[in-house]
Amino acid sequence: MNYFSLNNKNHSSSFENAVIRGLAPDKGLYFPEHIEKLPDSFFSALPNMPQTEVAYQAIKQFVGDEIPEAELKKIIAQTLDFEFPVVHVKDNVYTLELFHGPTLAFKDVGARFMAGSLGYFITKNEVGKVTVLVATSGDTGGAVANGFLGVEGIDVVILYPKGKVSKIQEKQLTTLGENVTALEIDGAFDQCQDMVKQAFLDEEIQSKRQLTSANSINVARWLPQMFYYFLAYRQLASEGKNIVFSVPSGNFGNVCAGMVAKELGLPIKHFIASNNANRTITDYLETGTYEPRPSVSTISNAMDIGNPSNFVRILQLFQNEYGNVKENLTSFSYDDEVTKEAMQEVYNETGYVMDPHGAVGYLGLQEYFKDHPNEVGAFLETAHPCKFRETVEDAIGKQIDIPDSIKEVLEKEKKAISIKDYADLKAFLLS
Ligand SMILES: *Cc1c(COP(=O)(O)O)cnc(C)c1O
Repeated sequence: MNYFSLNNKNHSSSFENAVIRGLAPDKGLYFPEHIEKLPDSFFSALPNMPQTEVAYQAIKQFVGDEIPEAELKKIIAQTLDFEFPVVHVKDNVYTLELFHGPTLAFKDVGARFMAGSLGYFITKNEVGKVTVLVATSGDTGGAVANGFLGVEGIDVVILYPKGKVSKIQEKQLTTLGENVTALEIDGAFDQCQDMVKQAFLDEEIQSKRQLTSANSINVARWLPQMFYYFLAYRQLASEGKNIVFSVPSGNFGNVCAGMVAKELGLPIKHFIASNNANRTITDYLETGTYEPRPSVSTISNAMDIGNPSNFVRILQLFQNEYGNVKENLTSFSYDDEVTKEAMQEVYNETGYVMDPHGAVGYLGLQEYFKDHPNEVGAFLETAHPCKFRETVEDAIGKQIDIPDSIKEVLEKEKKAISIKDYADLKAFLLS
């Protein structure tokens, strides 16, 4: 499969090159040249197909022959060695729990798949050492650190905003050591992201280090997220064919991967992008004008993003037509108060504990059902509630259980380097 740059349709890249580079030379995001629908035989076999086979069938056209079948299947097996249960919450509301991976975040899937693919290309094709440079607003850091830990030929450098990620998130990204370094910045996530972008444009750094990104701009992080939708459908198919998904969204990589699943023929009725107070896309769908803005801090911090990087991919999927986007995507935005109330309400009513991101997804689904009462839907639970322990316990008025794996990481010692500005980052990368 070849990919083109969203800044220049004539620029063509292999999957390997897109994974290694992250962004095209013209700074455009890579996008698949074709998306070919999966055959009917796939969909009839889907309900009884093993998880890893579903994933292999879904992703294989995007990889092509660049990773041999046996290797690709091995990468997928390592990526998906946990469950993705659909849990009934109430009435026509289900949740797809994506937090059963090693860092209890849905990003584990993308991070592991990318680590497997990049690791394969590096050892196979003598690419040389690669540095994965990534900014995190919370969950990316831990998942990427964990996914790439110990992968030969790869160094990982993670930038995170000091005091703006949860305690567990911070420990997950600062305690691993080996090939992983955490850099702490006294600022907001947007600043971390800007510094990463600047480093990618810096020729002096590029001449010394081969940099790539593990944010969802990288196709190997973005595309495997489509697996969730197939795996949810496989479990929900008996509920009727058309499922609505509400996706708590920040950079819009996850929801956009769901849209690719739909392009592959998965019968998804509609997408809801549920936002916290960072409502750039909610406003875009209301007004037709895209106005990025600085992010604001919320209790669902992994979605504190004012200029979602995958928005351009969504536009591409819908031929850059506003009307087309609007037909396929609805977006709602909720502030922290309403989010906490929802956590409490659902807990009191059903006993189900939502994390703040999932709660935003739940709210979006409920609001959509007001006008579509006969549909069935799932909101994505993108993180385990214990990662936002204080907020959750405060909202539901009860202590929640902490898994043993998290208790272990909390005891480890934090190791991070504090940096002030871009000059510090540059000095670190050149050293
Ligand atoms: C990253 C993240 C999101 C947002 O996903 P995008 O693909 O960036 O839209 C939502 N919830 C959690 C817990 C996350 O870590």
